[in-house]
Amino acid sequence: MTTLRKFLKEMDEKGEILAIKEKFSPRFQIPAIIQKFDGGPVLLFKKVRGYKNRVVANVCGTRERLCFALETNVENLYSRLFEAWEKPVEPKIVDDAPVKEVTEKPNLGRIPVLTHFEKDAGAYITSAVISARSPDGEIENVSIHRLQVLDETRLAIRLVPRHLFKLWNLAKQENTDLDVAISIGVHPAVMLAASSPLPFGTSEFAVANTLLNNELRLVKCRYVDAYAVADAEIVLEGRISTREQTLEGPLVDITGTYDIQRSQPVVEVVGVMHREDYLYQALLPSGSEHKLLMGLPREALIWRSVANVVPVVKAVNLSVGGCGWLHAFISIEKQTEGDAKNAILAAFSAHPSLKHVIVVDSDINVYDSNEVEWAVATRFQADKDLVIIRNVRGSTLDPSADQKNGLTTKMGIDATKPIAEHKEKFEKARIPLDKETENFLQGFKA
Ligand code: MN
Repeated sequence: MTTLRKFLKEMDEKGEILAIKEKFSPRFQIPAIIQKFDGGPVLLFKKVRGYKNRVVANVCGTRERLCFALETNVENLYSRLFEAWEKPVEPKIVDDAPVKEVTEKPNLGRIPVLTHFEKDAGAYITSAVISARSPDGEIENVSIHRLQVLDETRLAIRLVPRHLFKLWNLAKQENTDLDVAISIGVHPAVMLAASSPLPFGTSEFAVANTLLNNELRLVKCRYVDAYAVADAEIVLEGRISTREQTLEGPLVDITGTYDIQRSQPVVEVVGVMHREDYLYQALLPSGSEHKLLMGLPREALIWRSVANVVPVVKAVNLSVGGCGWLHAFISIEKQTEGDAKNAILAAFSAHPSLKHVIVVDSDINVYDSNEVEWAVATRFQADKDLVIIRNVRGSTLDPSADQKNGLTTKMGIDATKPIAEHKEKFEKARIPLDKETENFLQGFKA
């Protein structure tokens, strides 16, 4: 199950794919359908107006699907991630790669790239796994970046000042462009590894390889000095220019609001290779998939940080309503008064973009916003249980924050019940469930 195709086959067997036979356009029509099914099944668009190839979307759209992809469950997801982060193993490099079935000159106009939102600058590749090496070949980095299609051979890349940006700067110092492989249509484990907050110098491919039980395969590009995913659906070989920039954006980001226009580098695409009959993988900006891929690795960090200060952390959810980035719901088993406030501080230190934290007891399901709200309604008093921290570094993605200076106000809500007094009055009432009724209800489970 180490390729997107094999993963989709398994999803099909589980009945998790909705195949759409009607013909739709990649401009607004397909995005509108993806949005409608947000958090639901994988969508396979069998006919795309104006294009030969099919489009697949919503591949990493649910927490359960990501757990299945990593052969784990919700309880063990974070330890599975930590294990891979700590034991990266270099993947095999092969010559005979499935993605080499067709090799051709670049013509980006033939790829069914989606135009998502009304005021987006144009068509955007949003699921691209971009890999590059330092000029001395010692350091590899793999990360996901949005790519705006400029014309048949050129893209604009949004380079946030992280690791790929660092490699680009190293290339700039050597007066060369930065060679990159752009792999599209890969297994969810590769997407998750590429979204993980690893130190500079750790190759996310090696982490993906560990997650895939040592079965990830890479292939050397034909025209550029970079390695791509051998089982990807399509690979663009490119060079990020260190001289030429263009205006990039606007494009909707994780918050569902428009990110601003900036001057960003141009990528010259010099070669294309793809599977015969390749599937183009789409990813809706601000959809559940976007939030999960960005949020899950951060959840793991929050979980670890909170577990250092309180004895038992049951679950962490960077909620979809909080953009998978700004709101954390954390359930703990409180041992002493004050545990929840320590948990709040630990969560903020683990994820600097975090804005609001709600800590609840372990009887609350943090994946259900209604339950979390119920805990706030019945176990929280604002004069005693609220923590406000002003003028701290936060997310520049939040339009209500000071986006220029990156400053924001953070809030923590302790919605745990007091340990000592009147335990019963906070108890979540339940109806006794006997076998007969339980069996009857089982029949209605989706
Ligand atoms: Mn990195």
